Amino acid sequence: MKRDLIVVGTGPAGITAGMYGLRSGLETLVLDKGICGGLSNEAPIIENYPGFKKIGGMELAEKMKEQLSEYVSINELEEVKKVGSGAEEMTVITEKDTYHTKAVVISTGTKHRKLGVKGEDEYLGRGISYCATCDGFFFRNKHVMVIGGGDSAVREALYLKNIGCEVTLIHRREKLRAEQYLQKNLKEAGIRILWNSVITEIKGDTAVSSVVRYDKKTGDEDVLPVAGVFISIGEEPVNGLATQMGIMMDKSGYIITDKSQRTNLKRVYAAGDITGGVRQIVVACAEGAIAASSAYDDLLG
Ligand code: NAP
Repeated sequence: MKRDLIVVGTGPAGITAGMYGLRSGLETLVLDKGICGGLSNEAPIIENYPGFKKIGGMELAEKMKEQLSEYVSINELEEVKKVGSGAEEMTVITEKDTYHTKAVVISTGTKHRKLGVKGEDEYLGRGISYCATCDGFFFRNKHVMVIGGGDSAVREALYLKNIGCEVTLIHRREKLRAEQYLQKNLKEAGIRILWNSVITEIKGDTAVSSVVRYDKKTGDEDVLPVAGVFISIGEEPVNGLATQMGIMMDKSGYIITDKSQRTNLKRVYAAGDITGGVRQIVVACAEGAIAASSAYDDLLG
């Protein structure tokens, strides 16, 4: 099957790239190993995407998907295994098919960073979660901990509090990284914060029942009873495909692009969280639009 443009990954960047690609006249295909929307599906509330004062991440992703579907077919649950380069065309091999394309946009996003402590893998889905909107409901009226000090952790803490959980935020320093607006909301919500603290172990039997907390300032260690642990300590790039293709990345594994979203490979572009920088939905959309426009310029312009 021949295409002009194949977009890999359908977070906000990939969705926008697909839409701009097709609208500019490129025969475009959009693929995702999971479902459309990427990590924005997990955002409890988005308040900084222009046009929507307050909207749930899943709702926004659904609206974007609906809009993209007007233009182009979206192949969800189709993982790209390999992209092979050729003089004029690239071969995109998925678990279901093989496609030929003149240009590729990589928008594979990021995945949740793991804490790396004992019990984390063992209790995943049994008290440990990386997504409050997905799993918070099961912890209503229970005591949960949110680990992290960034925008995501504070948003998760606020969401959990709002649905009726008793929430404690644990942060490894005594200053949050989250934006001031969120910090103000956190304070107003009366959420307890344990500063200078790290979790060294998550314990339980059939499900999580406690965590071991180490106080970095005093050197004390204690066991705190909890029903749920929400780990929200940032993200890591999903760069397996970029590595396989030989795309240049920075030392943290994010794809390096120029201002036109071009990578070091001819007719290969990158957009969204996989490029690092300011990771916001509005930025991802902008980069997706630029990437598809650059593909158009390079192919037909
Ligand atoms: P982040 O900004 O990288 O924050 C990660 C937090 O986890 C930091 O507070 C960090 O501590 C802590 N942390 C990292 N590794 C840790 C470890 N091993 N143990 C304990 N704590 C650890 O990640 P994020 O909150 O997921 O946000 C990612 C990006 O998305 C950011 O650019 C953010 O602005 C954006 N975002 C925006 C919104 C929004 O509403 N505008 C919402 C969500 C995300 P330190 O502070 O000590 O480094």
